[in-house]
Amino acid sequence: MEEKDLGNDLAKVLITEEQIQAKIRELAEQIDADYAGKDLLLVAVLKGAVMVMADLSRALRSHVSLDFMAVSSYGSGTKSSGVVRILKDLDTDISGKHVLIVEDIVDSGLTLSWLIDNLRTRQPASLEVCAIMRKPEAVKTEIDVRYIGFDIPNEFVVGYGLDYSEKYRNLPFVGTLAPHVYSN
Ligand code: 5GP
Ligand code: MG
Ligand code: MG
Repeated sequence: MEEKDLGNDLAKVLITEEQIQAKIRELAEQIDADYAGKDLLLVAVLKGAVMVMADLSRALRSHVSLDFMAVSSYGSGTKSSGVVRILKDLDTDISGKHVLIVEDIVDSGLTLSWLIDNLRTRQPASLEVCAIMRKPEAVKTEIDVRYIGFDIPNEFVVGYGLDYSEKYRNLPFVGTLAPHVYSN
């Protein structure tokens, strides 16, 4: 197996592990306060959001339930199209529940916007979004991300759940890839 010390593959680290974990604690405090006395269901879309889901849910002090969806987005390579197919639906009926979508990154926001529309038809008591990262494109969309971790530049990043060809998801930090990785 290749070593996890992938230093050679990264051009730079954008967000360190310490910065991520500090931000997770900050977001968890806000979420704990906002949902005090309410039952909260965290919903994450596989696979990019698993790290945020794992860390955020453990940083929360209140009881929460977790559920996952898997979707496939028809698009050309790295761009999503907004046309989405559900590969695995939620196990839970979310009607009347307070739902918080936990996201890795919002870029075009197309997938998220589809997800919000889809979940809204199931009549949750409330529906909000927490995303650990947001790119500049996302700011142009109508999507209201209630809890946001970091605004990052318009670069392709990996780590903390985000992949390039299914690699780098297990890096505890976020960075950009060195050019030689793409030319392999
Ligand atoms: P959007 O629909 O907002 O354009 O992006 C949807 C998904 O594309 C994100 O949840 C994420 O999985 C992936 N994505 C967007 N930007 C990046 C990026 O910079 N790096 C990686 N690895 N994936 C990204
Ligand atoms: Mg995602
Ligand atoms: Mg990906």
